[in-house]
Parts: sequence; structure tokens; C-alpha cells
Amino acid sequence: MSFADLGLMPELLSALNAVGYTTPTPIQQQAIPVVLSGRDLLAAAQTGTGKTAGFTLPLLQRLSTTPVLHPSTKHRIRALVLTPTRELASQVEESVRQYGQDLNLSSMVMFGGVNANPQRDRLRKRLDILVATPGRLLDHVGQGSLDLGGVEILVLDEADRMLDMGFIRDIKRILKMLPAQRQSLLFSATFSEEIKRLADTMLQAPVLIEVARRNQVSETITHRVHPVSEFGKRNLLIKLLKSSEINQCLVFMRTKQ
Ligand code: AMP
Repeated sequence: MSFADLGLMPELLSALNAVGYTTPTPIQQQAIPVVLSGRDLLAAAQTGTGKTAGFTLPLLQRLSTTPVLHPSTKHRIRALVLTPTRELASQVEESVRQYGQDLNLSSMVMFGGVNANPQRDRLRKRLDILVATPGRLLDHVGQGSLDLGGVEILVLDEADRMLDMGFIRDIKRILKMLPAQRQSLLFSATFSEEIKRLADTMLQAPVLIEVARRNQVSETITHRVHPVSEFGKRNLLIKLLKSSEINQCLVFMRTKQ
């Protein structure tokens, strides 16, 4: 399967060509058509699966092929990507720039711990895609330098980490500021009850996709359990090691003794 098969536009295909990706990863194969269709998405995916391009590419395509959904006289952002850390925010915005190099869309990264004035200046100009951490975003909204009333697409990236870092209240406050009519995407490596509750409040009839964890046990490995008493353990282990079935072996122990 190629990126063209997924329905991506020529401007994105040329950018992908420039960065050297030839084949979509499993999460990209599943997520790109769903996001292009405009549906909400709940995706179980970890870092390293290619999830960033999985939401960035179709997000760029939707923004450049659909008219502004919530028109206004003010400059308002059309897509908001929330991430738990400034590092992730920077990486995601870098991807937005890279994949969107042949499109007429503007983006910005925003996080705390740095001077807010340049961010405020940037917000006065046209901005389509904002990648932000929740705290600084709320500061700007509170000061009136940012209006979330035009958001058409919301992405929550690494939602489980955001909850671990105590961002749930901030996220709920942000959700209240967004138009009800929007597309929402939630990415998380794990699915606790809290994530499920959050998904229930922010997603409408989401498509669920899941890709294998990278550290999942290989399909070529067979698990076998030997119920054995404490005293029989050593003899059983010796018997197994001597059996012709085993050529090479790793034995994990509880203590170094
Ligand atoms: P992510 O899971 O989004 O953090 O991406 C992990 C890494 O895979 C990043 O360095 C991407 O640049 C790279 N990547 C994403 N999609 C592809 C692809 N289709 N082919 C090759 N590399 C990719």
C-alpha cells in the first residue's frame, strides 16, 4: 500500500517523497482514511508507530480542502493539537511544517517556561494550526490573546501522559471552549478508566483503531507455563535445559544469588 492509495493529495505526497517515506505504517494505513472522512478517532498507539504523521497528514488535507467551518472576522485557529510536553509539541509542529511545506497553511508551537510576548505577537497574525501544551494555552485564552471558537479539529496526543501529568482539569476547561461541531482525535498508549471517560466526553461515535505495541511478544514465540512446587523448580529447570528442544536459552532469576 502507498500513501496515494490512502487518498492523500499531491501536495502531501510530494512532501512525503521529500522526507523519504515510501510506505505508510499500520497506524497510518488505518488512521488516515478515518480522519480524511471527518470522523472522530480513538487510537491506541505509542510513540514510534508513526502516529504523528497518522494525524498530521489528514489534518493538513482537511484544512486545505474544506472551507472555514466557523467563520469570524477575527483570526482564529482551525486546528488545535494538545501534547503533554514541550518536546513533543515541538516535534509535532516540526512534522506539521515538514508535511505541509507545499500547502498554504500556517502553524505555531506554544508552551510554557518561555516569554509569552513573542507568542502573543504571533497570535495576532493568521494562524491555522496550533500545537500547544495545556497550561500556556489557557494563559493566552485567559488574557484574550487566543480564541478557540474556530477550532474544527482537536487532537489530544499522548492523552495518558497528559492525565499522568495532572492536566485533566486543564483539558476539561479547554474542551468547554471548543465548538461542539468539530472533529476530535484522541491518541493514547494505554486505556485506563479515566481515559475512557475522557474519550466519552470528547468523542462522538469514534472509530477505534489499535496497532500492536512495539514490545509485544513476537508471534513466533510460544508461551508455556509449568506449575511446579518450590522444591521441584530446580530439577524441572535442569530437565528443560537438557531437553533437545532447547538450543539457546535465557534464564531470568529473582535474585543474583
Ligand atoms: P512517531 O511515532 O510519530 O513519533 O514517528 C516515529 C518515527 O517514524 C519518526 O521519526 C517519523 O519520522 C518516522 N516515520 C513516520 N512515518 C513513517 C513512514 N511511513 N516511513 C518511514 N518512517 C516514518
